Amino acid sequence: MVKDRHSDVLILGGGVIGLASAYYLAREGVQVRVIERDKIGAGASSGNCGFVFTSDLPPLCAPGAVSHELARMLVGQSPLFIKPELDLEKARWLLGFALKCSRSHLEHAVAARETILRYSAELYANWFDSGEFDGGRERNGVMMACRTRDGMERYGRTNTLLKPYGLEAIPFRGAALAKLEPALREDLYGAWYHPDDFHLRPERLVADLRVVLERLGVSMEEDCCVETLLGGKRAVRGVVTTRGEFTADGYVVALGAWSRQLARRLETRIPVQPGKGYTLTMQRPAVCLQIPCYMFETNVVATPWKDAYRLGGTMEFSGYGLSINRRRIARIKKSAARYLKEPFGYPLLEERSDLRPMSYDDLPIIGRPRNHTNLVLATGHGMLGISMAPGTGKLVADLVRDVKPEIDPVPFSPDRF
Ligand SMILES: Cc1cc2nc3c(=O)[nH]c(=O)nc-3n(C[C@H](O)[C@H](O)[C@H](O)COP(=O)(O)OP(=O)(O)OC[C@H]3O[C@@H](n4cnc5c(N)ncnc54)[C@H](O)[C@@H]3O)c2cc1C
Repeated sequence: MVKDRHSDVLILGGGVIGLASAYYLAREGVQVRVIERDKIGAGASSGNCGFVFTSDLPPLCAPGAVSHELARMLVGQSPLFIKPELDLEKARWLLGFALKCSRSHLEHAVAARETILRYSAELYANWFDSGEFDGGRERNGVMMACRTRDGMERYGRTNTLLKPYGLEAIPFRGAALAKLEPALREDLYGAWYHPDDFHLRPERLVADLRVVLERLGVSMEEDCCVETLLGGKRAVRGVVTTRGEFTADGYVVALGAWSRQLARRLETRIPVQPGKGYTLTMQRPAVCLQIPCYMFETNVVATPWKDAYRLGGTMEFSGYGLSINRRRIARIKKSAARYLKEPFGYPLLEERSDLRPMSYDDLPIIGRPRNHTNLVLATGHGMLGISMAPGTGKLVADLVRDVKPEIDPVPFSPDRF
């Protein structure tokens, strides 16, 4: 039974973005309540591949992306699936994506992503140094494995974009590659290695966050579904949930892929679509990767941890359903077998799908919408929510508290749409 239903700040959504925001607010003495319809961290924030991929600067909407993906879809080689249906929001999203596939957006997005990714990496370092977080972090870098010369050259072009930021990867081939990562198949053309990126176990990260938040006195309401936001254009007055009404002085919407649905009545546009991805978690195979591996041509990811191993991938735009498409799972497995000597471990521990919150310009949406006095949005983190979580949380906390942010918030403003 919840006694006091009012708090300084209500955070809607107990994923990694909501939790990181709660952390930075609570540290400043703000009284915070997190509302989560499931268990804390139960969604995409647990079912992901755990890369903290600071070097992943280019957005998905890069020049040529539409024609490249369409060509791959026609021959059944694309990780992308767009369910054909009459959905105006989705059609607008796709058009927005296509229009952002320009050179000028690429340069803008690379710079903006670098800002929040690097900021997050610095804040992650503080988290780990504090001793409060472990997150199952392993510092082995991240690898882009390329089956073909074409793949190697294409990532090489991406790599030139990273050079001005000092984030470029090192190319490896032949014996040098086999020595660096013996679990890769010998017939791969090569790989690019980012030594400074790292990976973690996302379930452990959200579990650590939970413990720290409890210690800081944050209330976490689980199994509590937000049904409606009360209020209108200028201010939120409260939220109606399956467990009654809650009110606060300030509100943060961190509902991941579901943010758009709930914020609709606030007359704020949140162009976020759910992008479904799958993960398969298993025991480590006998010949297991040391370095987490992105399979460049197929966009499938393999993440090794000390006590488990995960394959993940695909991007399905097929609504909010979480049903598992066996063909997608088969594609992930087939891809892994083309890159790795021993692609599977046994037994299979978990197979699941989760929804990424995809914005069409592939930049997160963080900030106070125009004219709103007490609402901050934090969503649209796409494929990088784990990588961008600490930076987002700190930025959200500064915006809520009207403190000057340490990074420029303008590229992430909800008013850009
Ligand atoms: C297969 C896959 C692999 C990925 N790999 C990586 C990776 O390697 N590195 C990386 O950085 N990112 C990765 N991501 C992306 C990352 O997981 C997401 O960007 C991140 O989890 C988004 O966090 P969030 O808190 O915004 O959303 P979520 O984790 O979805 O949290 C939102 C929360 O809101 C809750 N909620 C929704 N509606 C309501 C409601 N009405 N009332 C109350 N609560 C509600 C949900 O239950 C959920 O817990 C991957 C994603 C997928 C799917």
